[in-house]
Amino acid sequence: MQSSKIEWTNDTWNPWQGCKKISYGCVNCYMYRNKKRYGQNPGIIIRSAPATFNAPLTKLKGPLIFVCSWSDFFIEAADPWRDDAWDIMRSTPHLTYQILTKRPGLIADRLPKDWGDGWPNVWLGVSIEKQDYIYRLNQLTRIPAALRFVSYEPALGSIYIANFLQELSIDWVISGGESGPDYRPSHAEWFTRVREQCDDWGVPYFHKQNGGNKMIDGAWGGRWLDDRTHDEIPGNVLREC
Ligand code: SF4
Repeated sequence: MQSSKIEWTNDTWNPWQGCKKISYGCVNCYMYRNKKRYGQNPGIIIRSAPATFNAPLTKLKGPLIFVCSWSDFFIEAADPWRDDAWDIMRSTPHLTYQILTKRPGLIADRLPKDWGDGWPNVWLGVSIEKQDYIYRLNQLTRIPAALRFVSYEPALGSIYIANFLQELSIDWVISGGESGPDYRPSHAEWFTRVREQCDDWGVPYFHKQNGGNKMIDGAWGGRWLDDRTHDEIPGNVLREC
């Protein structure tokens, strides 16, 4: 069964934990909130215990694995451990790894030597919460990858990405509003604008949630946008649960 609560993946894998806030979208980071609740310091980056670090080799079924939901895969503090994580991804080609970062400027120097045009089982994505961070897409599109994606969550302003979609340099778009006790409201027209850009260029679009602090049909703020849900995933590889 699906072990992750994140709708666009099957499982999460956290080879390390902890992070540093670097962006407007980090203000209400759920990892910070949860770690503090457990009495842990979220600003200290630590390698996870072997059972967690090696989980793709033992228990994760995928096929989609979201990497580092409690950190950033490319954060500098994880440099000593990243080759071990790449080794695990290389040895599990039956799993597809979704790596999402707010630090795309660090990717190029941290890819494995045999990366080539990108491993078929690794997707690279960036988070863009508002137009100010579009430069992350520019950085990402300079990196070879089997599939590139953008997560527009938490959406904190309207964005325009049609030029990237038109050039076929971005293959998938996810969106979602912020949730949690201090959520910053999003507006339906922001999501509609992104959905229309994806429609125009035939790019798969997945709308995760509208955001807020009310659960509607299993998602914060519900998932309906423009009279329906939007559940597209490249290759339709999400395992049913
Ligand atoms: S980059 Fe992600 S994990 Fe790190 S502080 Fe920001 S929101 Fe949290």
